[in-house]
Amino acid sequence: MSNKKKEKWVITSAWPYVNAIPHLGNLIGSVLSADVFARYLRLKGDDVVYVSGSDMHGTPVAVTAKREGRNPQSLAMENHKIIKNLFERWDISYDNYTQTHNPVHINFVRDFFLDVQKNGYIFEKEIKTLYCSNDELYLPDRFVEGICPYCGFEYARGDQCDKCQKLITPLELKEPRCAICDEEPEIQSTTHWYMNFPKLQDRLAQLIEQNDIIPTNARQVCLNSINEGLPERAITRDLEWGIPAPFEGADNKTIYVWFEAVLGYVSAVKEWAEKIIEQPEKFDYFWKDKDTKTVYFIGKDNIIFHLIVFPGILMAYNDDKSKKDKLVLPYNVSSTEFLMYEKEKFSKSRQVGIWINEALELAPLDYWRFNLVYNRPEKSDTSFLWSEFENNMNLLNDVIGNFVHRTLTFINRHYDGEIPQKLKLDDRDKDLISKLNTISDKVGESLDNFEMKKALRDIVDFAREGNIYLNDKAPWHIIKDDKNEAGHVFNLCAQFVYSLAILLGPFIPNTSQKILKLLNYHQSLNALGWDSINENVIEAGTKIKKAEPIFEKLDIKEIKEKLEKSRKQKQKEKQTKKKKEEEKMKTISFGDFKKLDLRIGKVQKVEEVENADKLYKLTVNDGEGTRFLVAGLAPYYKSDELLNKKILFLANLEPKKLRGELSEGMLLAAVDGDVVSILTPEKDISPGSKIE
Ligand SMILES: [Zn+2]
Ligand SMILES: [Zn+2]
Repeated sequence: MSNKKKEKWVITSAWPYVNAIPHLGNLIGSVLSADVFARYLRLKGDDVVYVSGSDMHGTPVAVTAKREGRNPQSLAMENHKIIKNLFERWDISYDNYTQTHNPVHINFVRDFFLDVQKNGYIFEKEIKTLYCSNDELYLPDRFVEGICPYCGFEYARGDQCDKCQKLITPLELKEPRCAICDEEPEIQSTTHWYMNFPKLQDRLAQLIEQNDIIPTNARQVCLNSINEGLPERAITRDLEWGIPAPFEGADNKTIYVWFEAVLGYVSAVKEWAEKIIEQPEKFDYFWKDKDTKTVYFIGKDNIIFHLIVFPGILMAYNDDKSKKDKLVLPYNVSSTEFLMYEKEKFSKSRQVGIWINEALELAPLDYWRFNLVYNRPEKSDTSFLWSEFENNMNLLNDVIGNFVHRTLTFINRHYDGEIPQKLKLDDRDKDLISKLNTISDKVGESLDNFEMKKALRDIVDFAREGNIYLNDKAPWHIIKDDKNEAGHVFNLCAQFVYSLAILLGPFIPNTSQKILKLLNYHQSLNALGWDSINENVIEAGTKIKKAEPIFEKLDIKEIKEKLEKSRKQKQKEKQTKKKKEEEKMKTISFGDFKKLDLRIGKVQKVEEVENADKLYKLTVNDGEGTRFLVAGLAPYYKSDELLNKKILFLANLEPKKLRGELSEGMLLAAVDGDVVSILTPEKDISPGSKIE
């Protein structure tokens, strides 16, 4: 049983985007599933490195930073720290949870793509693209909106129309708008560096066809996409925030996030080897051994990027005869379907769902871990349901907690806390023991097949067997006549409790350690090992600790109320903060005031603006010449009332078009409800005079 060969694994979970706190669906989709698997492998004694990190780059971070007037790096780093801390609190056993803006990653990515270029897989191409001069940004597909050329839907995005589902490119959209500022973008030419996927097509098809470990559905998705013909894909972007593209002539371009984040799986192991354990040779040990198994835990929407794009660039990199050690190609992906929340899609804006920071305030961690794996969306979408959460909490309490508690309390009370002797086995005992001796293989087989949900359900069934055995034997009756015979039952039950603790280790490690401590084991789970489960693991006479309940029952109604209350509280805090910031914005420094170029002007001409009842277009002598000011004065002044008036205006305001008319400044007026009064100087003063 324990003669299995020690294997080498690189376990990874998808890189969370740093702009948002993950929700429960994100967590079970990759992070928690990978954690269970990595913990299981370590428990088996395999060599494991488990890595991931925050995806720091890309347009959304750049846009948020711009909107908030912040540096994208410090914004991303701040969010990264929050996410990293949350994963620690969720007991995710990463060997390295890093981020994509660290120097090891940046250098690795740059060197990597220079090698790929040297190997002949990268070419340049000039293309037309949309540029927003207002935001000073080349607009990525998703940041352009407009009218769908196929169905006329007015809010089609630059990559897809949500109404007719057709894939489109931004240049096909009619009347395109910048999704950030709503202005019309301009068409510009730009050069990008492309990855030649068509050249890799046959080898990728072969790679997938030959790998029979990849789940059938994932395989099919990939083969379909290959059969349709793989497109050339641009590796570069015209975006400041990202990893600078290393190619000659690619100044001001960065690597498209998708092409560098996947390489984080490699560089995170490099960083771990060099900086965390300080054994740089461990990088080659894991990544350059053809027998290393690399497994990617991802959501179903990420399959193509992990089974085509990622192995494609690895192949292109490896394609150098002089390179002896090649980076190992993917062994498998474990992709999940989606988790819904009470049968709805998770939505931040509508507050549908639970986020991983909230969950920890509501119930103990292991309830969440158990619940998420127990309903893991393995073969179809599943829903997080509060009713199910309640059922599962009862399972933990009634099936697992109770069995452990009954066993340990009885041993404490009647055997002075010492494991009693085992006697001769009867058929009922033998039946239990045969289950006990085979359970680690049974659960292990499911885990080996990435079926965590089935594995956990098998463990719960196993715990049920323990309860049935205890009830069948009813040692509380036996003890009246024969203390030794009752003790025999509890010897077997104690062995059973031990095996439950080991089996639960990958899923709910805290609980598992708690049970082992009660049994007086102080070694780590991994030191005990997956194969330690057997009928004689605890010797008779071993002293155990005083029993303590390992779970508690919570009131679901109270939990839900708490969630609602905390959300309201946060909403309130957010509003208060926003108000404070607005107040702060209102106070300006003397320096700010000095920036305002306020001047006197003389109105020379007043015209109405077509299709805008409230606006006048004023031609103003500003001392140096004339300029136009568009002002909403029509309801308050007749045009001849304004003519030849001297007015105050802000001269250095950015020119802006209002209803098609250019306004080159802002006329100042006092406003009190319906009374609007322009400001005029008291003395005769010449146009262009400064106001100080
Ligand atoms: Zn459409
Ligand atoms: Zn814009």
